[in-house]
Amino acid sequence: MDDHLTELYQDIILEHNRNPRNEGELDPFSGSAEGFNPLCGDKVTVYVREGEGGVDEIAFVGEGCAISRASASIMTKAIKGLSVEDARARIRSVHELLTGEQEPEADLTVLGDLAALVGVRRFPARVKCATMAWHTLEAALRPE
Ligand code: ZN
Repeated sequence: MDDHLTELYQDIILEHNRNPRNEGELDPFSGSAEGFNPLCGDKVTVYVREGEGGVDEIAFVGEGCAISRASASIMTKAIKGLSVEDARARIRSVHELLTGEQEPEADLTVLGDLAALVGVRRFPARVKCATMAWHTLEAALRPE
């Protein structure tokens, strides 16, 4: 990954951290879960409201480093409106992007802001900061 891309990814992360999407509690909600990353001290609570069509609303309350907050913000954007099945599939694919053995070869531009999270692969100590919100979302969704 070249330095220009790394800078771009940093900008996306910092922008989401400063101006997070869907931050706050959801009321009413159908599911919620809490996540904690002891390596960095990040905390997140993820709320979902599931309806007939899937994840109608999703929100988070998070404290911690810029990567953890940006990841939660990017996640809410990427998940809102998906069927629960598609949401689970996206959680799996993001997990693979972040922790898979192979550096992703797919065209990262199709991922939009999600591509910024892939940049975290270069900093193994920070991967848990990026995956925390996604694991927490998985726990907040109704069981399969
Ligand atoms: Zn962190």
